[in-house]
Amino acid sequence: MPVQDADTRRRNFAEVTLGFDLAAARREAERCLLCAAPDCVPACPVHIDIPAFIEQIGRKDIHAAYRALSESTLLPAICGRVCPQENQCEGACVVGRGLDPVAIGRLERFVGDQAIIEQWHEQPHIEPNGRKVAVVGSGPAGMACAADLAKAGCAVTIYEALHKPGGVLRYGIPEFRLPAHVLDGEYAHLQRLGVRIECNTLVGRLFSLQQLRAEMGFDAVFVGTGAGTPRFMNIPGESLNGVLSANELLTRCNLMQASDFPAHDTPLDLGRRVVVIGAGNTAMDALRLSLRLGAEEVHCLYRRGREECPARVEELQHAEEEGVEFHWLSAPTELLGDEQGAVAGLRCQRMELGESDASGRRRPMPLAGRDFEFAADMVVYAIGTDPNPILGQTSPLALDERGYIAADADLATSLQGVFAGGDIVTGSATVIQAMGAGRQAAASICRYLCLRDSAEIYRKQPPATGLFGLAEGERNFLRLREAMP
Ligand code: FAD
Ligand code: SF4
Repeated sequence: MPVQDADTRRRNFAEVTLGFDLAAARREAERCLLCAAPDCVPACPVHIDIPAFIEQIGRKDIHAAYRALSESTLLPAICGRVCPQENQCEGACVVGRGLDPVAIGRLERFVGDQAIIEQWHEQPHIEPNGRKVAVVGSGPAGMACAADLAKAGCAVTIYEALHKPGGVLRYGIPEFRLPAHVLDGEYAHLQRLGVRIECNTLVGRLFSLQQLRAEMGFDAVFVGTGAGTPRFMNIPGESLNGVLSANELLTRCNLMQASDFPAHDTPLDLGRRVVVIGAGNTAMDALRLSLRLGAEEVHCLYRRGREECPARVEELQHAEEEGVEFHWLSAPTELLGDEQGAVAGLRCQRMELGESDASGRRRPMPLAGRDFEFAADMVVYAIGTDPNPILGQTSPLALDERGYIAADADLATSLQGVFAGGDIVTGSATVIQAMGAGRQAAASICRYLCLRDSAEIYRKQPPATGLFGLAEGERNFLRLREAMP
């Protein structure tokens, strides 16, 4: 897929990847073998019928491809951009055993983008059932849950603490990776389904979960409040000026438009030599955003090696191309300050990798006598997040030992009629996993409210007919014959 040149894009906020055109999408679609028992489908957390939508691209019927996608996902243009496909559908694609796997994510994005441009929307027939459901949090888990419940006929209201909906998709992932118009375009589908959204509403402070059920007339509640509390290392120096979390940096820019100061009134005192600790997707976003905001040097410190880097492969490659300097096997032990109380550097230790830990990754161990100092005038923490504690503090919801909401296999919590899913249950995961949890919870809520089987919410498409009168098997055979000398 074409991308903006690295030297140009490192100083602008426009989207880095430029997307397929129809010809490129069709060429890529032609690589799909349309497997009868595809491995990619079970590897997708929401089980998109991948061969079905790819086949429609091959037929140039992009609207039909969109219809096939819409049976399982609300957010194809978003997931096509941000899903870690290499670990999900593309990781399982049989073509990938010998060649590059079919670029399923890029094809999904292509179709999702066309749907936004053409304003396609799959509006099912909705028969109101008189049930009211509240959804707390407007991230991908809340959006997916709200969409399925609205399709099942419930009157759904989403309560969102921030002033704009979207969760991490809005405040976390920057414009150069996920443009706001794409999020707005896919969010509009939710509004067309009749879902109401109330922003600036912090549940647990304005009203409690119990009040939603007992006083505000909601028959069920879904909690998808994510894991947005930044984690720190508890090492000396963390209260120095110039030390902040990646969530703060990203929120100030993405949601509060600090990059556009003074047109927007949230300034950001950016350092010239920025160090980001951590190497996940959040770290890559903070690193690349700092470059675009004008930092002269941007460094990444990570206690494991490049092999263990948890970010999407594409984000890591893009960060490297843009000039981020990576320091693998390096961990800070102290932040150093100047006489004005501002951060001036980090004391670090060199690491080596030992045996695998519970996560399956090799455990980093400090190397004795290999300490070093590293200059920095801004330090950004991107080492993970914890759950927001408000709902746990203001309701009798049972939490697990890490402070996340405890939910059973149906995503039911300890409070009757209250379900939960996404990062607030699993800890920080992925957009599509959160969406999958939202859909699962919607199905459980339908069962709880004795509504019709939620599997019927999405009507199954009739099986695709042959192309130019050729049966599918023959079509592939024809392609094989054509490819042979
Ligand atoms: P969230 O998206 O966190 O949404 C929760 C929402 O609930 C928020 O809007 C919050 O304001 C609201 N809320 C919280 N408490 C309350 C309350 N008490 N009352 C009302 N509203 C409340 N995943 C990928 O798959 N690919 C990526 O490339 C990727 N990049 C990422 C980059 C960053 C910077 C971050 C932080 C995460 C990234 N992730 C990525 C992870 C992914 O975004 C999350 O797993 C996903 O958004 C979780 O969805 P969610 O709906 O559970 O929660
Ligand atoms: Fe088969 Fe790969 Fe096509 Fe999925 S994307 S149907 S695994 S060839």
